[in-house]
Amino acid sequence: MIYADNAATTKMSKAAIDVMCTLMNSCWGNPSSLYTHGQKAKEVLEKAREEVASVIGAGAREIIFTSGGSEADNQAILSAAAIGKRKGKLHIVSTAFEHHAVLHTLEKFKKEGFEVTLVDVHEDGLVRPEEVEKAIREDTCLVSVMYANNEIGTIQPIRQIGEICRRAKVLFHVDAVQAVGHIPVNVEDDNIDMLSASAHKFHGPKGVGFLYMKKGIPVKNLIEGGAQERGRRAGTENVPGIAAMAEALKEAVRDLDKNAALISAKRDRLIAGLKEIPHSAVNGDEEHRLPGNVNFCFEGIEGESLLLLLDDKGICASSGSACTSGSLDPSHVLLAIGRVHDVAHGSLRLSINEEITDEEVEYVIKSVKEVVEYLRGFSPIWRDLVNGKKEFIL
Ligand SMILES: *Cc1c(COP(=O)(O)O)cnc(C)c1O
Repeated sequence: MIYADNAATTKMSKAAIDVMCTLMNSCWGNPSSLYTHGQKAKEVLEKAREEVASVIGAGAREIIFTSGGSEADNQAILSAAAIGKRKGKLHIVSTAFEHHAVLHTLEKFKKEGFEVTLVDVHEDGLVRPEEVEKAIREDTCLVSVMYANNEIGTIQPIRQIGEICRRAKVLFHVDAVQAVGHIPVNVEDDNIDMLSASAHKFHGPKGVGFLYMKKGIPVKNLIEGGAQERGRRAGTENVPGIAAMAEALKEAVRDLDKNAALISAKRDRLIAGLKEIPHSAVNGDEEHRLPGNVNFCFEGIEGESLLLLLDDKGICASSGSACTSGSLDPSHVLLAIGRVHDVAHGSLRLSINEEITDEEVEYVIKSVKEVVEYLRGFSPIWRDLVNGKKEFIL
């Protein structure tokens, strides 16, 4: 099997599995208990907090452990909205290609009287800082822009947007789920106030993540109950999962630059190979792009059929995001960068890691070429395009 869907989830690293298994066996106490067995778990928890914090340039007390990226996104927006409400600032700025954990949360706050401005994502999959600046108003309480897009992999000018937010004194939240562990992220350098991350996107376990909340920002609870996480997130902590996340993150950043260079080279070969397919196009800027992301549109085919046939060839890929598959609407990300419906339906995302070999890269290129040609062979849309009844867009 060739796994090329790391943006959906990653395989746990061996070191993370080892940490998790060891702790499940030996350190299963409740960190809130006062006896030694509980306090040992507490120590493990606090060590993980320090490690995670240090990777993103934060202080340990600024880290709240959550059940993952979605929860962190929800809590960040909830907290900012609560501050906004108190100050009578009911306007939020975000973008049209955010993850649904952000977009659906913003929809919820619209129903509570908030106004949301979604700034344009250009054809290259990049947000323009000056357009964010223009969208900020007197009553803006939050700007939320993702670090890197989960579908097309484009890396946003976060530092510049952060500077603008600092100047305007508006809170800045960044969904960095696709960035942390893959590219350098530093909350100080990048002027970030709130940041979401998720372990299963960097070879840690599923169901674990964290929210960075800059010191001094009042945090609103999403989950009420006990006083865990210094009263900011109730529920007995998933100590083995959290420690495994810290282990995976340390591992991911240890050789970050070297790995990123290695993966980027394979990504570029995939892009060059797939570009040879007629009437195809890369989605998103090729330069400001996650090392492992390849995203294409092929005219005249359905992404779902492409995925099923690639699966037959042992290749795991994605079309749009896992959350959208099963629905008939094309990806909101591809629509946001201006792809028309027909073209957006024929999309393919390959998200690779360093494990893919050069031979496998060539096999993937060959397989996609074969499958696209095969599908076009009996596609009515393709026939219309070839016969001139419809015009090619790509
Ligand atoms: C995966 C993902 C999420 C959701 O994270 P979970 O841990 O699966 O809840 C949020 N934002 C982005 C950009 C993602 O890629």
